[in-house]
Amino acid sequence: MSDLHDDIRKLKGVGEARAKSLEKLGIRTMRDMASYFPRAYEDRRGFYAIADAPLDRPVCVRAAVTDTPKATHIRRGMDILRLQAADDSGVLDVTYFNQAYLKSTLRLGETYIFYGRVTESGRHRAMTNPAFEPEDRQGTVTGRILPIYRLTAGVSQKFIMNAVSQVLADCGRQLPDILPPALRERLHLAQARYAYENIHFPRDDQALEQARRRLVFEELYTLAGAMGMMREKRAAGQGRKLTAYPMDEFWAALPFQPTGAQRRAVNEAMADMTSGTPMSRLLQGDVGSGKTLVAAALIWQAAKNGVQSAFMAPTEILAEQHFANLTRMLDPHGIRVIKLTGSMTAAKKRDANELLRLGMADVAVGTHALISENVTFSDLGLVITDEQHRFGVEQRGALSGKGERPHVLVMSATPIPRTLALIIYGDLDISVLDELPPGRQKVDTFTHGEEMRPRIWNFVRRLVGEGRQVFIVCPMVEDSEEVPPDVKSAEAWAKTLQTEVFPELRVACIHGKMKAKEKDAVMTAFAAGEYDILVSTTVIEVGVDVPNAALMIVENADRFGLSQLHQLRGRVGRGQHKSYCVLFSSAQGEEARARLRIMTKTNDGFKISEEDLRLRGPGDFFGSRQHGLPDMHVADLSADMRVLKQAQAEAQAVLAADPALERPENRPLRDRITELFELHADTFN
Ligand code: ADP
Ligand code: MG
Repeated sequence: MSDLHDDIRKLKGVGEARAKSLEKLGIRTMRDMASYFPRAYEDRRGFYAIADAPLDRPVCVRAAVTDTPKATHIRRGMDILRLQAADDSGVLDVTYFNQAYLKSTLRLGETYIFYGRVTESGRHRAMTNPAFEPEDRQGTVTGRILPIYRLTAGVSQKFIMNAVSQVLADCGRQLPDILPPALRERLHLAQARYAYENIHFPRDDQALEQARRRLVFEELYTLAGAMGMMREKRAAGQGRKLTAYPMDEFWAALPFQPTGAQRRAVNEAMADMTSGTPMSRLLQGDVGSGKTLVAAALIWQAAKNGVQSAFMAPTEILAEQHFANLTRMLDPHGIRVIKLTGSMTAAKKRDANELLRLGMADVAVGTHALISENVTFSDLGLVITDEQHRFGVEQRGALSGKGERPHVLVMSATPIPRTLALIIYGDLDISVLDELPPGRQKVDTFTHGEEMRPRIWNFVRRLVGEGRQVFIVCPMVEDSEEVPPDVKSAEAWAKTLQTEVFPELRVACIHGKMKAKEKDAVMTAFAAGEYDILVSTTVIEVGVDVPNAALMIVENADRFGLSQLHQLRGRVGRGQHKSYCVLFSSAQGEEARARLRIMTKTNDGFKISEEDLRLRGPGDFFGSRQHGLPDMHVADLSADMRVLKQAQAEAQAVLAADPALERPENRPLRDRITELFELHADTFN
């Protein structure tokens, strides 16, 4: 008798090699195997008369073999087996390639179920390589709904089907039901075991639907429960209660009016910070929506209250820019802003740290150097992280740990579809900047193949002639043997462009493998207009501001996610110049082209991210590991919104009644949450 938690090697037929292959599919234990759900199904139940069978999809026909199968040896490695089968409606010519051994399996006069695609030539109907079973022993490959699994080398459909049925037979009874019976009955959800059996081997459509509904609910309920526990934990603590000062003094000192959305976001955050519980808020806003100003306003409030703020950015370049911007906005109010980044000398870092420790600086702007151990604040009350998805959950936590339950604001320019935000940031409150500052212009976007290259190069010369600057982004840092030769690398492409295409222009190159100092130097020089063209990898994706840049060219654009392309495009159109984005791609596939066309049709980051989610799934969204959530097995976040809301409501209700999930009926949920989030186990203690 095996246990659900047993290693998969305990399963019959699984040796070291198999285990390695299975590991690639994420299967290590019996439980993983049971949770390895089909990616699709084939309905092999419907039977057709040979003459009536549709030609556009595989079907089952029931037919008797009417002549002795004949094997022909064509050449080395090529055998053909032909036979004829018939039912009352007509005749079917059946051909098998390289399966001569079937000669003795398929017997004259016997009736079989054949599953395959029927083809027609003249008056003959035929099938090639159909799956088959004797009429009286159907139910394995015909006459049923067949699960289709995602495979890898060394693992076949048949193997997974057998392994799953073995695991379900052996340990099906041990599958814990995390849904209390009362909840299950109220929502008409199937039991765990029934759901597992029918998601793999559905008895009929209804059973499959029942199974799926139950498992989707379970998955989302678990996540919502986990998020809820984090939220509870946070809300349970006392936060510092700030006083809200009238914003007019701050707004009046700006060279422009804040947008309505910026005012609203500041008010929402201030409501949190004056409430007595610590703020945990996500500020979402498309590139250029003005998130920095919201941050500055809150820092101003914090400083008025005599508390320090920390502002963390993911790169040195960004930290530098934020430091300049925040200083410009806050210094006139007598607020002291300092910088703390990894590239500073030890002595400078020590000085900065000293000012923070003594409370002589009000704001520290920096990279993750801010969370290094020897940084101490006198009284840290507000923590802001920019482009938050680039930081791990732990890193965010570490910065908050520098204060006494500080208020936390995370900012993201990756517009996350609401569906996904509800899950990823289920423990946060959300403010959205859904309004761009006035006067922003749309960036005209085009997708082109190689044939347009000469025209675009002329366009580059014309723009540079007018004094503008150009970004060219490549998917790779350097040429590599693993990628196809037409995939551009920043280093090589920069060289080619400088020497062969634009010898008269000034071309620079920047990429992630360069030292922070070198990157900074190039970026600063580009921003100062010392180069015309900057060839780079996606290191320029975030935040960098070069208002004079008016053209963004992306090479091999099909290799980027839509949201990433949108971020890149946001690097231009930041000044008063009409700006353009050109996406080069030689991808032939219709899907790849359709994806890129979306970019030409809209500048709305939220719409683009919804499409990205629909086309690529949430796993790809920003490397599933980065948001620290487990992968989804059954739930389709773009389609299961209704269930998500329901699961959230139920999880909230259960946590309201039993915050630590200690009641016996809630223990399985608690165990499951701990298991899924074992990396962050301390969160739940
Ligand atoms: P993001 O949300 O992408 O971080 P930023 O905060 O960098 O955007 O703001 C983009 C630009 O818009 C900056 O140059 C900023 O000074 C400017 N800006 C911000 N708010 C306003 C506003 N209300 N009116 C005009 N310009 C603004
Ligand atoms: Mg920004």
